[in-house]
Amino acid sequence: MIEPPRTEGGDAPGSPRSEPGSSPDSPAVMTVLAEILKHGPIPRIEVARRTGLSQGAVTKAVARLTEQGLISTHDNRRSPTPGRPVQPVSVQEEARLAIGITIRVDEIFGVATTMRANVLHSIHRPLASTAPPAVVESVAGVVHQLLDCLGTDAERVVGAGVAVSGDVDKAAGIVRDSPRLNWSAVSLRDLVHERCDLPVVVDNDVRALTIAEEWFGIGIDSGSFAMVTIGAGIGCGLYVNGDVVEGDHGIAGEIGHLPLAPGDLLCTCGRRGCVETVASSSAIVHAIRAAKNDPLMTMREAVALARAGDVEARTAFERAGSMIGLALATMANLVGPSVILVAGESVTNYDLFERRVREAFDEHVFGSARACKIIARSHTFEDWARGSAASVIRSMLDGTLTTHS
Ligand SMILES: [Zn+2]
Repeated sequence: MIEPPRTEGGDAPGSPRSEPGSSPDSPAVMTVLAEILKHGPIPRIEVARRTGLSQGAVTKAVARLTEQGLISTHDNRRSPTPGRPVQPVSVQEEARLAIGITIRVDEIFGVATTMRANVLHSIHRPLASTAPPAVVESVAGVVHQLLDCLGTDAERVVGAGVAVSGDVDKAAGIVRDSPRLNWSAVSLRDLVHERCDLPVVVDNDVRALTIAEEWFGIGIDSGSFAMVTIGAGIGCGLYVNGDVVEGDHGIAGEIGHLPLAPGDLLCTCGRRGCVETVASSSAIVHAIRAAKNDPLMTMREAVALARAGDVEARTAFERAGSMIGLALATMANLVGPSVILVAGESVTNYDLFERRVREAFDEHVFGSARACKIIARSHTFEDWARGSAASVIRSMLDGTLTTHS
């Protein structure tokens, strides 16, 4: 049984309180915790090498984190390694918990997780309306249901993360524009916080999923990667030189709105010529409906038609693939990731895109950026919700998790 975090008597003068919901210590201590979270069990000397901190500073931070019950030292006296014991350290992942929620157009998924975003409880509920009051009501309901599932462990929850697609100002806690939810300037953080007595973090859904991939997925072995989601929209999370790119104005990696397509179609963002006008799932199905004169055709039927070899259906998918490849090459030329992870709802149909994506990418990518790998990976909605929980933990580590009340 892990004791709930307590900090009485241990804080240095001026240091922030370290109850759940706030950063328990200095940036150096949190840097050490983040490193142990990502790479533990890990020897202290390796933490020092990775963070650039002195061994003395790491030892001090480890002592502080151990005192708070956030990490533990492995007893490896029986290790066959001769010489000085290495004593790797790892996080006590259940010492802090997080709630993560992702909002889709017709449903909400929520998870309660450990610090390593391992899921303890998971629930989802349908969404009857995307009007902000109805969504906030449902989000609050999911948060309270998850807290009930946790029972007495709920006191270790540091915050709730809520992610939506679109233009999200994480620092201000505002969804500035979400075309899919038809939201504009919604103060989501404050609205959810009013209903739940927890610090709340709002984030763009792809950026939140990128944080989870950074820590517990592709980012473990990669110094820079891009995660591109294809589906109803086309999003892109960037992890560059050891950090997820947020953009000074909250916008970065919006490859779905690169103006690379012909200008005859209007995008959901109100502009013309965006990649999404050709390559989003709705653009593909619209093109096939028009070609087949079947306005009621579903995406599933369109996929079946393409798989059966229908030329017009295949052409719509291949045109989308070429557009996505062009967008990926543009992004790779600018950012230079070692890996591009293709994810999102349409990844289940990626066989219909893949060849054209790679061809267009190879055609337009510059020089050695061609070495960038493109890997498809499917994520469950639970994975997306885990991303929101990871966003909470990240805010805890960088000291931005506050109640904002
Ligand atoms: Zn657009």
